[in-house]
Amino acid sequence: MPHPCQTCGACCARFRVAFHWSETTAYAETGMPAELTEPLDAHRVSMRGTDSRTPHCINLVGAVGSAVGCAHYARRPSPCRDLGAAWEFGEPSPQCDRARAAYGLAPLTVETWRSRLTGMPPDA
Ligand code: SF4
Ligand code: SF4
Repeated sequence: MPHPCQTCGACCARFRVAFHWSETTAYAETGMPAELTEPLDAHRVSMRGTDSRTPHCINLVGAVGSAVGCAHYARRPSPCRDLGAAWEFGEPSPQCDRARAAYGLAPLTVETWRSRLTGMPPDA
């Protein structure tokens, strides 16, 4: 069973992804390519496509709710690293829930992860 984020991507197409410019290649070679960001204010940039009323990160590949990926996953900025999938590590994630709800996707539950671990369907 794929990781639930690989068939979701809702948070990459729901929120503005803003972070300090030092997380880009303007500061560190290993950062997010600066050309994929745009200035937000004196100290912050946002991922292109996310500072919008209909956000959709430029790095998001695939269709939300289907097979998705991040074109620069290893370089993703701190907001992306910090937004956890609900209950993956035993904690709720209201942002995850809100993003999924916006796309008509059911919230992840403890059972989602248990069934992934055991290979048994959630209602077994
Ligand atoms: S909304 Fe939740 S499940 Fe979907 S990609 Fe983001 S963290 Fe993963
Ligand atoms: S950088 Fe990657 S993980 Fe972050 S919002 Fe964009 S597609 Fe999603």
